[in-house]
Amino acid sequence: MADRKPFIAGNWKMYKTGPQAAELASRLKSLVGDITDVDVMVAPPFTALGVVGEILQGSAIHLGGQDLFWEAEGAYTGQISAPMLKAAGCSHVIIGHSERRQYFGETNETVNRKIRAALLGGLIPVLCIGESEAERESGQTFSVVQKQLEEGLEGFSSDEIQKMTVAYEPVWAIGTGKTATTDQAQEVHESIRGRMETAYGNSVAKAVRILYGGSVKPENIGDLMAMADIDGALVGGASLDGDSFAGIVRYK
Ligand code: PEP
Repeated sequence: MADRKPFIAGNWKMYKTGPQAAELASRLKSLVGDITDVDVMVAPPFTALGVVGEILQGSAIHLGGQDLFWEAEGAYTGQISAPMLKAAGCSHVIIGHSERRQYFGETNETVNRKIRAALLGGLIPVLCIGESEAERESGQTFSVVQKQLEEGLEGFSSDEIQKMTVAYEPVWAIGTGKTATTDQAQEVHESIRGRMETAYGNSVAKAVRILYGGSVKPENIGDLMAMADIDGALVGGASLDGDSFAGIVRYK
């Protein structure tokens, strides 16, 4: 994985009430709060950002949002903006997760607007892309991922791209227990980096971290991290348990 710093992120999705999130955050702080050779980030539900942010203060664990809206403020009932996430202590925000695309009408165009809002608000976007099972079976993996990347990142400068993280998450591997083989993941990561190189140049392509997501666990993270273009993981299910997330963070 070249000299890019490993990055392990946990997406808690719609799990954990405030008290439950506080318990998990305390456990993580004691298990991995002092780790600095791997970047660690957790994205709790919005309602738990405050309590988790307070608990993680003084640790090296970063806080992220799971989504945001592209306007900074306004009459948008139910939405959360970049300045709100920033003020709650977030440094990162996940954008375009496949569950947002599948259940909430997220498109490459809305993803693009959200990335713009995140950057304007001083947040690091973690852009999620990935093909469905049907798309993989019909040989469209590379074209789907390329389109998501091109349209999601349309209009950004090389400097802006360099600040982002990309997460490749094959939809068929999310929460299913099916993990892409290391070779399947590596070939898509390599193609994403190749696309970055063509569009933004060699130094940007070398700098951008590309995470893998899809049923990552302590048992498979080591093999994934051994691949040249896999720089970390976006973890769902296994991030809900302190010991298992810590096992992923301490993969070395
Ligand atoms: C995810 O939610 O981004 C994810 C990869 O989930 P899981 O690890 O549960 O497959």
